[in-house]
Amino acid sequence: MSGKIIIVGAGASGLAAATRLYENGFKDITILEAENRIGGRICSVDFDGVVADIGGQWVHGEKGNIVFEMVKDLDLISPSKLSENPGMLFFLIDGTAADQTLTDRLLKLAMAVMEDKINTKKHGGSFAEYFHFEYNKRIRKEFSSKELEAFRLAHSMMEEWFKKFIILLNPAESWEQLSTTSPYVFQPCEGHQMYGWRNKGYKTILDVITKTIPDPSKELPIKHKVILNKEVTKILWQDNVKVECSDGSLYCGDHVILTVSVGVLKNLHKNAFVPSLPSFKVNSIEGIPLGVVNKVLLKFPKKWWPDNIRDISFLWSEDQRDEIIKEFPKEELFNGRVWVENIFSLTSIDSHPNILLAWINGPTARFVEQLSDERVLAGLMFILRKFAGQLFDIPEPEGLIRSKWGTNPHFRGSYVYVSADMEKRQASAHDLSTPLEVNGKPIVLFAGEATHASRFSTVNGAMETGYREADRLINFYSKNAK
Ligand SMILES: Cc1cc2nc3c(=O)[nH]c(=O)nc-3n(C[C@H](O)[C@H](O)[C@H](O)COP(=O)(O)OP(=O)(O)OC[C@H]3O[C@@H](n4cnc5c(N)ncnc54)[C@H](O)[C@@H]3O)c2cc1C
Repeated sequence: MSGKIIIVGAGASGLAAATRLYENGFKDITILEAENRIGGRICSVDFDGVVADIGGQWVHGEKGNIVFEMVKDLDLISPSKLSENPGMLFFLIDGTAADQTLTDRLLKLAMAVMEDKINTKKHGGSFAEYFHFEYNKRIRKEFSSKELEAFRLAHSMMEEWFKKFIILLNPAESWEQLSTTSPYVFQPCEGHQMYGWRNKGYKTILDVITKTIPDPSKELPIKHKVILNKEVTKILWQDNVKVECSDGSLYCGDHVILTVSVGVLKNLHKNAFVPSLPSFKVNSIEGIPLGVVNKVLLKFPKKWWPDNIRDISFLWSEDQRDEIIKEFPKEELFNGRVWVENIFSLTSIDSHPNILLAWINGPTARFVEQLSDERVLAGLMFILRKFAGQLFDIPEPEGLIRSKWGTNPHFRGSYVYVSADMEKRQASAHDLSTPLEVNGKPIVLFAGEATHASRFSTVNGAMETGYREADRLINFYSKNAK
């Protein structure tokens, strides 16, 4: 095959595209990567001698999950204990643990409301309205009016905790932004939902994609085709393509596959493309939202929580906020709220017994990125000790690492979700993935998680899109060779 192909981005989708092309005879491939590493939102980093993931972490599901299919016989992943029940402990602001039998019941009920697709669609409107209505209806049915503790916890769980869970899965700033009627819905792969990569991190998949695993002698020379620290700033497309980088370098090819996040496209699209993008493409870029979720990993000198606790969460109601707010300086308030309210939970990681992973999402996920490590650590430890300090003697962590997906100009967010606004604008993954053609020849192609209509926000979804665009070119060349 003779096509000269430029791929922008060496994340999961870019490497998948390059591999498929290479295996089908396309040898003239250049991968331009803005960062000084490959992997993109797969970011497995060294944390005091252990490998930790501050981006993609788990393989979600088995059936139809391309990652699972590729690694299931290679002894690389194990089901995480995190999803085993019980394991989730909710702490209250007075330092005690909530009654676990009760919280398990409430959680089950809330999950059933979330997963009830028929009622969700029937209700219409924002997801927040639907959840509020349906959850309260079921709570009233499930508990007698004498069960005051159940009602008190049901309220705080619904208002303050479940909301955070929903916007972890769909990283909007608020769950009012989520729609109940969108034709685009995330379709999970069946099977166990949380496989971890033991102590090697999700970056292992990059070696699987490029065939270094299972047999290093069969490695395809894909990583050698990556040029790091090459930030693409301009794309001139006619019947071929010229790609300019911020350091002034220029690359020419027959086709370019763009795999950058939709956040990067939002920033680039007005000035980078010559000629400008057609309106359907602009609409999809502007309309598909990219949310921010950040991770903070804390390494403790010893594991201070018992084995049966795998997830530490906090339940607090609106009126308890004042007690917390007064402990924080004004600069750490965001729209009158304090950032620690958006700590979703702290979870244990099977392969790293002394580490807890804190999730920060919602309206302050981006804001937290501006705070120093010291302030983030102080905030997390304050909340942990306030809620769980009565039951446990919590030592000071020895180290912290964290992600900054929102402010990094090469990502500008974590993963996409479906919003009511996206639905209103009729922005779609389909339009985002449609290539720009000149005389029937696909010149600019689009891959990356946001271009997947049903498995967005995952590594497996991203990889599928890379293979999809590679296949598009392979088909184009095989048809035109006849
Ligand atoms: C905190 C977090 C947790 C997650 N957890 C999971 C999980 O548990 N399981 C799961 O399946 N998925 C998870 N995901 C999602 C998953 O990581 C992503 O969907 C996937 O890695 C995206 O791959 P991609 O190739 O589409 O994009 P990217 O990985 O973003 O690759 C695009 C590449 O383009 C580069 N780039 C950007 N701009 C330019 C430019 N101008 N010029 C050149 N190069 C550029 C970037 O540096 C990047 O390397 C998580 C993501 C985050 C952030």
